Amino acid sequence: MLADYAVKVEESHGRRFPEPAHPYRNDFQRDRDRVIHARAFRRLEAKTQVFTRRYSDHFRNRLTHTIEVAQISRTIGAQLALNVDLVEALALVHDIGHPPFGHAGEKALDAAMRQHGLFFDHNLHALRIVEDFELRYAAFRGLNLTFEVREGIIKHSRDYRAEAYPELREYLLEQRPPLEAQLIDLTDEIAYDAADLDDGFEARLLTLEQMRAGVPVFERFYSEAERAYPQALEKLKFNEALKGMLDYFVGDLIRHTQDEIAAAQVRSVEDVRACPRRLAGFSPQADQERRAAKKFLYANLYSTAALDPEKDLAERVITDLFAFWMAHPEHLPVSYQEKARQEPLPRVVCDYLAGMTDNFIYEQYEKYCG
Ligand code: MG
Repeated sequence: MLADYAVKVEESHGRRFPEPAHPYRNDFQRDRDRVIHARAFRRLEAKTQVFTRRYSDHFRNRLTHTIEVAQISRTIGAQLALNVDLVEALALVHDIGHPPFGHAGEKALDAAMRQHGLFFDHNLHALRIVEDFELRYAAFRGLNLTFEVREGIIKHSRDYRAEAYPELREYLLEQRPPLEAQLIDLTDEIAYDAADLDDGFEARLLTLEQMRAGVPVFERFYSEAERAYPQALEKLKFNEALKGMLDYFVGDLIRHTQDEIAAAQVRSVEDVRACPRRLAGFSPQADQERRAAKKFLYANLYSTAALDPEKDLAERVITDLFAFWMAHPEHLPVSYQEKARQEPLPRVVCDYLAGMTDNFIYEQYEKYCG
C-alpha cells in the first residue's frame, strides 16, 4: 500500500518515446532493470569510490557503494510507504555519472573543462548517459527512462536554477522533487559515512582512538558495544558500533521525515512538490552528529596526505589525456570524432574520459602519454 504522497506509477509523466506496457513489470521496475543492464552501470565496478585497488580488493567501489545505497533506500522507502520501485531505480542510477578516480577525478575533469569556459557536473553527465550514450534499443538512443527517474537523476542531490539551466526546464526546477528522490542524497550520505569509517579503519588510515575521540555518534555506539560484549574482539565491537550508527541514522531519517510529512500536511505528490522545502531529513540532533562525522572524514580521511599520491596521479592522468585528445582528436574513437562535428571538442573529450573505468583510463594513459 502506497502512501497518498508517494509517486504512483500509473500517474507517471511517461517516457520520451511511448512504449507498450510490459505484461508483468511496471514502468519503474523496467527503469530499474534498464539501469542494471546499462553498460555505464557495470563500469561502476571498476571506478574508485574513495580507495583505489591499491589498498584492498574488499573495499567499496562505486558499484558496491551503489548497492548499499539501494539497500538502505529500499528499507526507508518501504517504511515511509513510498514507491520502492522508483526509490530503487533512483538509488541504482545515482552515481552512474561519476568519472574514474572518485572525487579527485571529478575535480580534475572539471578543471580541464573550465579552461574552455565549460564545466563538469556528474548529475548532468548521468542524464546524458541515460538519454544519449547508452545504445541498447533499436527504436531510440538512450534508455528512454520515465520522467520521474530522469527528474530524480537531476534533482536528488541539489537544486538547479531555471535561469542557469534552461535545458533542464522540463524537470520542474521550481518545484521540490518527490520524496522518493529526496531520500537518495541522505541515504547516500548514511551509506558512505559508515563505509568510509569502515574502509578507513581497515586501510589503517584511521585508528579506533581517533574515531572514538572525533566521531561522537560512533563513540556512543562503541561504548554500548563494549558494555554488551566486553570480551569480543575489537574489530567485532567496531562492527557493532558501525551497525548501531547506521541503524540510528536510518531510524532517525524515517521518524523525522514522517514528522515533517505530518506537519506539512502533504496528501499528494503535488503537495510534496509544492512544499517550499524538502521534507526528507534528519532530526536536529542526528543532523548535527551526521555533520560531525562528515567533518571528521574530511579532515582525517579524504584529505589525508596518505592518499595524495593517488590523487596526484589521478589529476595528472586526466589532465594529460584531456590535453592529448584536444590536440589530437584524430586519436579519439570514430564515434567520438563524429560527435565532435556536432558538439564542442572539449565536451566530447570530457564525455569520453568521464565514461572510463580506472583500469581503462590507465591503459589509455600508458598508450598515449606513457
Ligand atoms: Mg553516492
